[in-house]
Amino acid sequence: MAGARALPDDLSNLSAALPCLIASLHDIVGTDHVRRDGAGLSLHSADIWARGAAGVALIVAPGTLDELSRAVAAVSEAGFSVAPRGAGMSYTSGYVAADRHTVSLDMSRMDAILDVRAEDMVVTVQAGCTWVALNQALAPLGLRTPFWGPMSGLRSTVGGGLSQLNAMFGAGHYGTSSESVVALTLVLADGRVIRTGARDAEGRAFYRHYGPDLAGLFCGDCGAFAIKAEVTLRLMRAPAHEGYVAFSFSSGEAMLGALAELARAGLPSESCAFDPGLTRVRMARASLSGDVKTLGAVVARQRSWYAGLLAGLRMVRGGRSFVPDDGYPLHLVFEGRSAAGVQEDVAAARRIAVAAGGTEIESTIAKVIRAAPFPPLNSVLGPAGERWAPVHGIVALSGAPDLFTRLQRLFATMAADFARHGVSIGYLFTHLSTNAIIVEPVFYWPDERFAVHESAVEPSHLARLPSQAPNPAAAALVAEARRQVVAVFAEAGCGHFQIGRAYPYRQSRDAASWSLLTAVKATLDPQGALNPGVLGFDRPGERAG
Ligand SMILES: Cc1cc2nc3c(=O)[nH]c(=O)nc-3n(C[C@H](O)[C@H](O)[C@H](O)COP(=O)(O)OP(=O)(O)OC[C@H]3O[C@@H](n4cnc5c(N)ncnc54)[C@H](O)[C@@H]3O)c2cc1C
Repeated sequence: MAGARALPDDLSNLSAALPCLIASLHDIVGTDHVRRDGAGLSLHSADIWARGAAGVALIVAPGTLDELSRAVAAVSEAGFSVAPRGAGMSYTSGYVAADRHTVSLDMSRMDAILDVRAEDMVVTVQAGCTWVALNQALAPLGLRTPFWGPMSGLRSTVGGGLSQLNAMFGAGHYGTSSESVVALTLVLADGRVIRTGARDAEGRAFYRHYGPDLAGLFCGDCGAFAIKAEVTLRLMRAPAHEGYVAFSFSSGEAMLGALAELARAGLPSESCAFDPGLTRVRMARASLSGDVKTLGAVVARQRSWYAGLLAGLRMVRGGRSFVPDDGYPLHLVFEGRSAAGVQEDVAAARRIAVAAGGTEIESTIAKVIRAAPFPPLNSVLGPAGERWAPVHGIVALSGAPDLFTRLQRLFATMAADFARHGVSIGYLFTHLSTNAIIVEPVFYWPDERFAVHESAVEPSHLARLPSQAPNPAAAALVAEARRQVVAVFAEAGCGHFQIGRAYPYRQSRDAASWSLLTAVKATLDPQGALNPGVLGFDRPGERAG
């Protein structure tokens, strides 16, 4: 069975090997960067959705490519699994331990911006660099990457974003995160280093394509093929002009029909749509102090004091009542080289949205999204401290309305159970370039929070949130609902980002593709040490426990 681990005969040998592994890792990264404290282990043993089958045995945090390569080699040589972790902001069990002989590979020290080469229009970062840090470094130079981050970008990393692919900023024009990649430097399970792309005489990457697209193989691999150590991304001049417009629709189907046509026309650089359920949650969560901060950011973002004043006045006048309670709001952002070009795009979008039945509403949320793109990650918990978990499908433009109808039908069959257990749902929708729409149902349910939630939320916000008691019945209902949603996505032929251990990727591949992928895994990681179970590669036999 390719991709499976050659297990030691006696599992206790592995536990006995731990002190020796710790000593080797101390030599490689220094004693401060190998952790076994309870708080650290608990933080690294669950993601936003679930605890792993087992806790991680220890955490190692390399700081350089050399340390990374030697640490990964030492861990796999000792017979342990490697679970790479960026910021841990995912929810498909992508980095949690498959078994108790797992080392969490903490990428947070590898957060440097290594090289901005404006003359070649590329930037190279270590994979643990956050999207916010990347954008802050590029903004003063008037530069940006085409895809420029997910909404979790205050914490989430470029390496995490490429490993499971991302939607959001820039995705409306430029597609997902991997479509902005020029080259990757990767570490294999045995510590060898792979460098992709066309590189100059000094080894600096400047162009992605040189023979087969090797970088593409590792984008969306969820860390199962190799560890991303360094990433070179394409640069572009930051667009000088922005425009915003928003519409409310009476049904999800009408809104998705409009979004599909806007995507075909290539108009918005970002879109963000909700259903009435998610609108209610967002409005309930927003705090007065948050409103004031946001107002300041929106005003500052406008190109003149007059435009700023106008935007501020509109926000104040509209309050939070600008979205009809039962509507499906679609918030759109536009960008371009000239004000006239942006205004033409906004006008074209208006024609499309109105023809599809949309009514124009205040564009406050679109402005807020642009003015404060990487907000604190307070939304990992609901407004009353409930748990939160999205699940998503990527659907062809023409298929989105029908997919929504099918999901609504499913949720109608579960409505009584949801009400009994206090589960509420909402939806988020966005588009990817001229090709696809993401439909993302979101669940809220009363349940205990984990260390990862507490570390993500701002302390002042956390202090205001009630703690919820463990609620296995509600959690089981949400797990079942997620399973049924994933089945609807599979029937509709959806694709997925953030595959982790949550989506049936393996089952969706034809036999020849899966055999190719298995052979690739066996070549890159013959012991199955990297993130066992992720993407559907066989778990290493009986190792669990
Ligand atoms: C509030 C909130 C908002 C969000 N908004 C968005 C959004 O707008 N768009 C979006 O796409 N997602 C969004 N997400 C989901 C998530 O944050 C992103 O998918 C993000 O890319 C995760 O990055 P991370 O660094 O936290 O990765 P992690 O969660 O740490 O890891 C993700 C996966 O990548 C692997 N991995 C991490 N680093 C490496 C590496 N260097 N080499 C190899 N494998 C690696 C891990 O093993 C795991 O399988 C959101 C999440 C939250 C909590």
